[in-house]
Amino acid sequence: MAEVTLEPEILNLLPPFRRALRRASLGLRRELPWIGLNDPWAIFVSEVMLQQTSTGRVIEPWRRFLSTYPTPTACARAPLADVLRLWSGLGYPRRAKSLRDAAQVMTDRFDGHVPSSVEDLVSLAGVGPYTAHAVASFAFGRRVAVLDTNVGRVLARAIANRPLRPREAQDLATALLPRKSTADFNQALLDLGAQWCVREPRCAQCPVRAQCRWQREGGDDPAPRSAAVSRPQAAFAGSDRQVRGRILRALNHGALSQHTLAFELYDIDAPRLVILTNQLRRDGLISDHDERLALSGDDETSH
Ligand code: SF4
Repeated sequence: MAEVTLEPEILNLLPPFRRALRRASLGLRRELPWIGLNDPWAIFVSEVMLQQTSTGRVIEPWRRFLSTYPTPTACARAPLADVLRLWSGLGYPRRAKSLRDAAQVMTDRFDGHVPSSVEDLVSLAGVGPYTAHAVASFAFGRRVAVLDTNVGRVLARAIANRPLRPREAQDLATALLPRKSTADFNQALLDLGAQWCVREPRCAQCPVRAQCRWQREGGDDPAPRSAAVSRPQAAFAGSDRQVRGRILRALNHGALSQHTLAFELYDIDAPRLVILTNQLRRDGLISDHDERLALSGDDETSH
């Protein structure tokens, strides 16, 4: 375990909070189809989809994706255009390309399997420390802490009652882990943060309220200024992110000339459309074929 940078006052609070969370864990459990699965690829896909998309919007695309690509190798062999079509509606489509790139590495270097160590997982495209820890824990039972924005809020409020620096948040999450059943414990922390310790916390109904330091001591909410806690996102409507998604959807049914694309997205200024199509080209999500724009890989299916 890494050297812990936290004051003894915080460390003393860990055993009672750990016990309270374990007692509450079954009641906290959300009904999500990937929880408790014994399929590393299914868990890997869920974690990539959940990176920037809310849980409710992920369930159906996750089912469709896995029934089309039930293994890393099936995904690795698919044309990128088909993977992008399946991704439609999830947003941040660069993740779809990274997922296929990761599947190709799994096929080439890991015998078609998801690797189990954090070091190998972070070497894959689109996989950061959070996703690597989540897959290592939930798919392989590795004893690693899963620190996302939900867990970050719980730690800052219930245990520290002050904003945490990045190293402190990671150390605290690690120090809080029990010796056994760490995947269940990580899941319970995520469930608590996703349902009770939300941005506007539901403290009155919270099952670990008796062990919550912020509840006992009061003061300003420490979560918004704490490490690992995300800030509110800019509005989606009208954003470049939304327009990039519309461009990809317009190309879902086949290649279009720049002129036809501009006609389909008539409400977008021409210079902005050029900038955004150039970004998608640079990201490798679209390419040019016979003076028309197409989803990357569509040329692989048209022959
Ligand atoms: S009592 Fe409130 S602040 Fe404390 S852990 Fe529960 S929801 Fe979060």
